[in-house]
Amino acid sequence: MKKILILGAGQLARMMELAGTPLNLSIKALDVTHNNVVRPLAPEIICCDLATGIVEAEVITAEFEHVAHDVLSQCELSGKLLPNSDAIKVGGDRRLEKALLASCNVANAKHYFVENKESFNKALELLSLPIIFKSALEGYDGKGQWRLKKVEDADAVWQSMSDFIVNSKTSIKQGIVAEQMVAFQREISLVGARAINGEIATYPLTENHHTNGILSISVAEKLNKELQEQANAVFESIAKKLNYVGVMAIEFFQVGDELLVNEIAPRVHNSGHWTQQGADTCQFENHLRAICGLPLGSTALIRPTAMINIIGEDTITEDVLTIPSVKLHWYNKSKRPGRKMGHINISGNTELQLAQRLRMLAKLLPSESFIELTDFTEQYFTKKN
Ligand code: ADP
Ligand code: MG
Repeated sequence: MKKILILGAGQLARMMELAGTPLNLSIKALDVTHNNVVRPLAPEIICCDLATGIVEAEVITAEFEHVAHDVLSQCELSGKLLPNSDAIKVGGDRRLEKALLASCNVANAKHYFVENKESFNKALELLSLPIIFKSALEGYDGKGQWRLKKVEDADAVWQSMSDFIVNSKTSIKQGIVAEQMVAFQREISLVGARAINGEIATYPLTENHHTNGILSISVAEKLNKELQEQANAVFESIAKKLNYVGVMAIEFFQVGDELLVNEIAPRVHNSGHWTQQGADTCQFENHLRAICGLPLGSTALIRPTAMINIIGEDTITEDVLTIPSVKLHWYNKSKRPGRKMGHINISGNTELQLAQRLRMLAKLLPSESFIELTDFTEQYFTKKN
């Protein structure tokens, strides 16, 4: 039984334990709030402290990119950390991420780094409105972002941003990346795995819908050869440059037939949860296979599948389980507005059948909590009918 330690004990670690147990992997996770090592599926049981967890583990990995740098260094020193700490740090700092994209010659939104009022004004000069400002560190689910649409609001945005920078308790210097808002047709992502021997396997592209900056719906695409090849090429160059091992996700904006990279996640990703029932091998298993030096599993789509996030609710009607193929995944988290509490996977043998089942699902769920589901479902149904 191979022993794995995951940095972070949230839902991604939990789903790795679910996927890794049949492979005879023992999964423990660092609860970063209390600095205890726990079982992701039974977090109340404390196994040991971090130092012991590192010694006991054979492989160490991470479920999120905002791991404290001293913890990353401690893990890297053990020689067991995969992906490497530089790759994890790049995902956790938008400045490093932009530098990486430049070094790989990968297209992304026009941007400028902001540290003070002077560089803020310079960003307004160089970029045209609307501009999105994103905190360099600790941003996720649309947090730490400001959107400037009208020049009259510039002072208020600057005030809010500078207060945020001053109050940031990050161990390295917080900053802001100003980015041109992209008028994209849609958002898509690519999830893929790179093995220790350099072999790469990517999943079919996923179309993503966000509500208030949080992912709400993902649907796996039927093969779009040209877009898939474009995304695969970006994945390959970034993964090679980082000497990456494990699953990584890349978020893109599609503008015409071109892809611009939005951001990189050095981990399993919410837009890959559909793989739990839509792909031959799910992303959680493939991440574990990659970091354990096992052969990667097939990433082929086995049936059209969509994933719907459950946000801010800790119950939904049990009637959803009457719909064929619906699977519920709760994360055992306490309820908070805007918090990802669980997700629903739903499949069909054909895209039309998936569309029909999505319609049944949308009728059962409250539109206040599943804001875009009905619109998405009707559009998807019209396209596939
Ligand atoms: P997070 O780390 O919170 O996921 P993102 O950079 O992915 O941060 O931003 C969240 C969402 O905000 C994106 O999925 C997209 O919908 C929107 N967004 C971010 N950057 C841009 C941009 N440059 N142009 C248009 N929309 C953007
Ligand atoms: Mg994102």
